[in-house]
Amino acid sequence: MKEFIIATNNSHKVVEIERILSPLGYTAVTAGERGIRLGDVVEDGDTFAANAYLKAKHAYDLCRCPVIADDSGLCVDALGGRPGVYSARYGGEDTGFREKIAMLLGELSDVPEAARTAHFTCAVCCILDENTVIEVEGRCEGAIAFAPCGEGGFGYDPIFTVDGRSFASLSSEEKDRYSHRGDALRKLRDELMKYPL
Ligand code: IMP
Repeated sequence: MKEFIIATNNSHKVVEIERILSPLGYTAVTAGERGIRLGDVVEDGDTFAANAYLKAKHAYDLCRCPVIADDSGLCVDALGGRPGVYSARYGGEDTGFREKIAMLLGELSDVPEAARTAHFTCAVCCILDENTVIEVEGRCEGAIAFAPCGEGGFGYDPIFTVDGRSFASLSSEEKDRYSHRGDALRKLRDELMKYPL
């Protein structure tokens, strides 16, 4: 059995996770596709890994079959690692990404190019059964641009750059190759090799 339920309500993440897992030989479906409503999880962990576990456990308890959850965010060095685990809530839970990006660029307005380093982190938690929890973490080093650029991706992609190009201006394949989520899911694939699925 190589099917996983992806424990997220974020449709962009679903697309990326499916896209990365399918060439690795796994099928990823949403809980909705299996007729299960996940509802919201209180993400009150203080690390990405803790929040990924909370989401995976919540989904596993409802689905009782292999699940994968991710918790991810943007850590900006000049801001002491903020927004970090609060990336989704940065600037308020209900603000859109246009506003979050404008706020972040505002906070960095005096920060010169050399000091605009940042990374994305993605913690992935996979629960196969009651006794088997696999946790991995992926990371992508980059920088924060001075202005949004590119039409693709989601979230903070227009201002996160790798080698001078924003995530939002990369093709899907390029983003997966560099991204924190791609890194984490490839590590998960290596771990899954140890289990007969
Ligand atoms: P969560 O993991 O669902 O709690 O949300 C993490 C936050 O980081 C959300 O606001 C996402 O939009 C953002 N984020 C996570 N991964 C990416 C990415 O690959 N690109 C842009 N933003 C991301």
